[in-house]
Amino acid sequence: MMKPEENYSLLQHNTFGMNVYAKLFAKFNSEETLDALANAKEWKENDPLILGGGSNILFTKNVDTLVALNQIKGIENRGGDDQYIYLRVGAGEGWHEFVMYCVANNYGGIENLSLIPGSVGAGPMQNIGAYGVELKDVFHELEAYHIKGRYFVKFRANECNFGYRESVFKNKFRNEFVISRVTFKLHKQPKLNTSYGAIEKELERMGVQELSIKAISDAVINIRSSKLPNPKVLGNAGSFFKNPVISASQHEILKLKYPDAVAYPSGEDFKLAAGWLIEQCGWKGYREGDAGVHKDQALVLVNYGSATGEDIYNLSQKVLNSVEEKFGVLLEREVNIR
Ligand SMILES: Cc1cc2nc3c(=O)[nH]c(=O)nc-3n(C[C@H](O)[C@H](O)[C@H](O)COP(=O)(O)OP(=O)(O)OC[C@H]3O[C@@H](n4cnc5c(N)ncnc54)[C@H](O)[C@@H]3O)c2cc1C
Repeated sequence: MMKPEENYSLLQHNTFGMNVYAKLFAKFNSEETLDALANAKEWKENDPLILGGGSNILFTKNVDTLVALNQIKGIENRGGDDQYIYLRVGAGEGWHEFVMYCVANNYGGIENLSLIPGSVGAGPMQNIGAYGVELKDVFHELEAYHIKGRYFVKFRANECNFGYRESVFKNKFRNEFVISRVTFKLHKQPKLNTSYGAIEKELERMGVQELSIKAISDAVINIRSSKLPNPKVLGNAGSFFKNPVISASQHEILKLKYPDAVAYPSGEDFKLAAGWLIEQCGWKGYREGDAGVHKDQALVLVNYGSATGEDIYNLSQKVLNSVEEKFGVLLEREVNIR
């Protein structure tokens, strides 16, 4: 095992572009190297932070612990039947690269999740989702390593408590496990999901005659590229806040006062568009120093260059306060704060 490096810049490892330093930094690329690292005194004396692509984390200060970068790779065919194929994927594989692999092989189920940055292993953390699909829809099981106990366990879907941008790994078991491999159950005879209006529109614009996994993936890529800031150009971590879920009666009251409030039914409740709430408070395009609210996407906070994590965090707090004041709705941050 390589000895962990000291005082290591995380600039290349977070999409907000924060130049913070990790007290210690190490990589692992297999179950064996992970276990060897976990046997080192640096691991035992610190509470390690597991990092993938750093696309869902805001560093507000230097990280006073060991940062361990997951680079476990590999896509393994675990068989299946006429209907399904099971793929066991290293947690350090790039999510979008894995989606592209499935699209190329005509394995259906995650084409709507094209172009989400980050690693496969971070996917279950917040049950990533977009355009009507969530990771849980194709999840079979995952393997995880207990950080303190130093053993591997399997989690089935019902043990992960997947919810809207939620799982046990984000809550009850936060910082307790390293997700090492994820097995997906994908469709051999794809069921295409174009329920999102934006996808339908884009397919039409593209002049697609025959619907396919590839066409949907292309449509999603086009929509996302035109809508979302590219972190390589403008630091960000996608949606900064979750869409708040309110009860049907709260929704009714809100609609009386704000008839054009954007909300979608979610079971018996309603999911309010956080972007709409933030925009109504006048934040869209706001900039304070190098911290800002994106000009087209009020849900996305951005770093114009030299904002600190604290600047971004403070701005998020102001946004949160004003939304609570105006609408009585408390926003929750989706991005992990460190
Ligand atoms: C432009 C842009 C668009 C985005 N769009 C979407 C979207 O549409 N939908 C969506 O859901 N998300 C979206 N995101 C958020 C982000 O891409 C996802 O949450 C992604 O899954 C994060 O992966 P990562 O490897 O970068 O995680 P990181 O940022 O590295 O880590 C995120 C959290 O997970 C933990 N973690 C990471 N890997 C592991 C592991 N192997 N084991 C245990 N814990 C781990 C970390 O400690 C941290 O707490 C977007 C982000 C950006 C920048």
